[in-house]
Amino acid sequence: MALNIKRPNGTEDVLPRDAHKWHTIEKIARETAESYGFGEIRVPTFENTDLFLRSVGETTDVVQKEMYTVMAKETKFTLRPEGTAGTIRAMLQNGLLNEALPQRVYYILSCFRHERPQAGRLREFHQFGLEMAGSQSAAADAEVISLAKTILDRLEIKNIKLFINSIGCPACRSEYHKALRAYFENRKDELCDTCRERLDKNPMRILDCKSPICQDIAKDAPLIIDYLCEDCSSHFENLKKYLGNLKIDYEVNPKIVRGLDYYTKTVFEFVTTEIGAQGTVCGGGRYDGLIEQLGGQHIPALGFGMGIERLLLVMEKQNCLYLAPKKCDLYFATMGDAALETAMALAHDMREFGFFAEFDLMNRGLKAQMKYANKIGAAFTIVLGDNELSEGKAKLKDMKSGEETPIAIDEKFVLNFENIYMNNVLNTVEDETGNSLFAFTEGDN
Ligand code: ATP
Ligand code: MG
Repeated sequence: MALNIKRPNGTEDVLPRDAHKWHTIEKIARETAESYGFGEIRVPTFENTDLFLRSVGETTDVVQKEMYTVMAKETKFTLRPEGTAGTIRAMLQNGLLNEALPQRVYYILSCFRHERPQAGRLREFHQFGLEMAGSQSAAADAEVISLAKTILDRLEIKNIKLFINSIGCPACRSEYHKALRAYFENRKDELCDTCRERLDKNPMRILDCKSPICQDIAKDAPLIIDYLCEDCSSHFENLKKYLGNLKIDYEVNPKIVRGLDYYTKTVFEFVTTEIGAQGTVCGGGRYDGLIEQLGGQHIPALGFGMGIERLLLVMEKQNCLYLAPKKCDLYFATMGDAALETAMALAHDMREFGFFAEFDLMNRGLKAQMKYANKIGAAFTIVLGDNELSEGKAKLKDMKSGEETPIAIDEKFVLNFENIYMNNVLNTVEDETGNSLFAFTEGDN
């Protein structure tokens, strides 16, 4: 009977043939973050619902429409819709913020949001993200933006624009809220239900509404950038200066307010126009009030989240290169039980030395085994049968050149293989101007 159960809408399977694409992003992101002093943190997939209500904010789309919440024995839990809240909770709970500042952590995790699935918008998606706590300097903002930019550059993603804005602090925002309310008041009746509610509680959220009508009404709304206090304004000027020094191109976009409530001062987005409407591959900013809001001291902090599936969409579109998936170094083709047992032992030794080795597990004939070795792209093959075993030697075949080298079937087998293998690698480098030594390979290879 055919399996009638399919994966839920808005989720994806990653198959072994595509895993190297994920590994490429994860490796580059990890190494880049670590070179900036960040260490990895791993937090639970679900948290107490209250954590998200108090951090992401009750008037945001995420909290109002997108959370997966379950009631489990009297307690409400939510699958994390983003990484910051749980990470800050963990930093507080484990006392990281009492240690030397700034504290810098990064993570790779899945997020869950009940959205309408479409290209680049999933219900389970993955983020590479990071948080830095302790510094109020605009240099920290520049550092975090430069880190994100470095990852995108190292992935060789092109045509990405960096937009920055400042959404001020609670002090400058109260004036701004007044101006916004006055602006929207006239056209209150045309706003969507959610935004009409937001008008009182959090008018800035209206600017982030996805409804075209609300967007049109918000077109000429006052801009927060014109209401910044002196501190926020000089912070923003410093950031721009540092980005200039780092030769990072940016555009100030006074319309970016970001979808989560906890942001203050700097917000930024890296956007591409190449993958349709869901073009924001990275979004982040400063959230100086969040740690205090969650019960900690007043410690300024900032961070970003990068959507891994969206990065992959751009990389596919731009034919970016990926780290080469590891391929079989040696395939043992066997005839008979004795040969199988020898292959099993030798393959084990090979793996101890870090080689990738395989032998037949399907009881195939010799021809079918060689066909299989070709299919998996084995670099070398060796045929083992009764003759080879009784003579104590066999022929190692280089699958690319077809060249055969005799090799003894004894305790020095792996060392001898390694010699031949290294010679082969060196020759290939001379032949192909080094390409085979480089970690990247093209497309789906
Ligand atoms: P958007 O405006 O696209 O809805 P957002 O502001 O809700 O994004 P953030 O909460 O800032 O997104 O999340 C950071 C990043 O995670 C986004 O820039 C995007 O790359 C990715 N992301 C967010 N939501 C989704 C989703 N539903 N599916 C896939 N990736 C997502
Ligand atoms: Mg969203």
